[in-house]
Amino acid sequence: MYRSHNCGELRIADVNKEVTLAGWVQKSRDKGFMIWVDLRDRYGITQLIFDEARTDAQVMQLAKSLGREYVIQVKGTVIERESKNNNIPTGDIEVLVKELTILNEAQLPPFTIEDETDGGEDIRMKYRYLDIRRNPVKNSLLFRHKVTQEVRNYLSNLDFCEIETPYLIKSTPEGARDFVVPSRMNPGQFYALPQSPQTFKQLLMVAGMDRYFQIVKCFRDEDLRADRQPEFTQIDCEMSFIEQEDILNVFEGLTRHLLKKFHNIDIDKFPRMTYDEAMRTYGNDKPDIRFGMKFGELNAVAQHKDFAVFNNAELVVGIAVPGAASFTRKEIDALIDWVKRPQVGASGMVYVKCETGGHYKSSVDKFYDQEDLAKWAEITGAKEGDLILILCGPANKTRTQLSALRMELGNRLGLRKPDEFAPLWVVDFPLLEWDEETGRYHAMHHPFTSPKREDIHLLDTDPGKVRANAYDLVLNGNEIGGGSIRIHDKATQELMFKHLGFTPEQAQQQFGFLMNAFQYGAPPHGGLAFGLDRLVAILAGQETIRDFIAFPKNNSGRDVMIDAPAPIDQAQLDELNLAITLKD
Ligand code: ASP
Repeated sequence: MYRSHNCGELRIADVNKEVTLAGWVQKSRDKGFMIWVDLRDRYGITQLIFDEARTDAQVMQLAKSLGREYVIQVKGTVIERESKNNNIPTGDIEVLVKELTILNEAQLPPFTIEDETDGGEDIRMKYRYLDIRRNPVKNSLLFRHKVTQEVRNYLSNLDFCEIETPYLIKSTPEGARDFVVPSRMNPGQFYALPQSPQTFKQLLMVAGMDRYFQIVKCFRDEDLRADRQPEFTQIDCEMSFIEQEDILNVFEGLTRHLLKKFHNIDIDKFPRMTYDEAMRTYGNDKPDIRFGMKFGELNAVAQHKDFAVFNNAELVVGIAVPGAASFTRKEIDALIDWVKRPQVGASGMVYVKCETGGHYKSSVDKFYDQEDLAKWAEITGAKEGDLILILCGPANKTRTQLSALRMELGNRLGLRKPDEFAPLWVVDFPLLEWDEETGRYHAMHHPFTSPKREDIHLLDTDPGKVRANAYDLVLNGNEIGGGSIRIHDKATQELMFKHLGFTPEQAQQQFGFLMNAFQYGAPPHGGLAFGLDRLVAILAGQETIRDFIAFPKNNSGRDVMIDAPAPIDQAQLDELNLAITLKD
């Protein structure tokens, strides 16, 4: 038996027990006649004491050779500590060691294995197994496990059945770029790794499984933006014989359960907002509604004077920043520079200070009088002491810019409180989205999403106006999930592919299997997927997902620990019938 107890469980009630412990040496203090060692495992830290007067001389000698991260086993007696440590649960006791076995020596770790480490991101990732020994990372993984467990139980109790779908599937042109895998047995042919189990879960509905879920890896070969992973985990779900309302209720229930379980927060009905409203009010389809600063559209009250910049703009729109009238000229200039950075791309910014006594002071006083400015304050909801910031230009672009500014100010002013949770359903997404690059429409969600029946007639005349039965769940400004009611008949699916620019042959070749299945009795169905990595991070009050993934990739999509991706042998290439020519 390696151990009778773990390193986190001994208490004062265990005094006088003979115990065996095993773990890692966190640190040791050698006072000559006495040596203390902090022994660590996943469960905690227990102090060991080696005492010349009570410990055998040979054991004493061996204890002096212990280095950090040595793996050891000790046998000894639990005794009460003289100076107690209230910071750890085992702080009342220590183990007086009688026998010591070194199970494995360790090299000096490249960074300190403590809560606050001196190791930078790169070195921690290279030695991730050492990083995981640290409490913050270990606890994040344990937390993830708990969330996953709750999700499994919650959904299983509602008759959802977890079913695995294949990882080696077929590449399709829709959506993001696929990771592909060459097939040795089928020369010149490739599998793709799934971007999501979308078509399989729909086929499971056709198969009559009624309620499916899977906690599943998905793969997308996209250029990595900060905090994106090429492989990530989804809680993927699908249900039959349901309407949008049923799906929203089930997953609102799941989210409510998680918020209650992990934060003891009761949230009643989640608010809902249409996509159009979210874009108009927050310039964003995943608004953080923990704070205000709603957009106020000012065209009607700002385009009647000689200020050409506003007059020529498609949209003039502003936000009221609470308490910011006290910003100095320098601070405001810095904000103007901030919105002009290429990442945001505004050409300038107008401001109005709402000073005490109902007086307004603006950067466009030349053009607008107090009465005008009072109207702007009314529309943006600005009160005395607030600062109105106004951008203008093409509508969509300007909304995106103002949204970036709103989020930045939300962060700077501490309005995005990590312990506050504000879920929101965004519904009625557009079905299609115009893509400048390819000069055609793309499915905004995916091509299996059903259009709203009342909008189908617009497909031929005004495709961008067609709304979909699609919804996202947003939490604190992050999209944590999204899904849709699906098309379940062949004719509508064919029509959809036609509008996405597929010829009937292409549609048949790519998705014939699905459309054929629809001819064999497909039930009405729909579903959604939650991004597990982000959900867990947000529930833990954090925004970076990397610490919640045991072995994440870096920003270049590399695993720096195992050094992947990497070239493969010529023999392997030959076997796969692949010849590689690198372009420079
Ligand atoms: N498959 C979709 C996604 O990965 C989710 C869904 O529609 O259920 O975003």
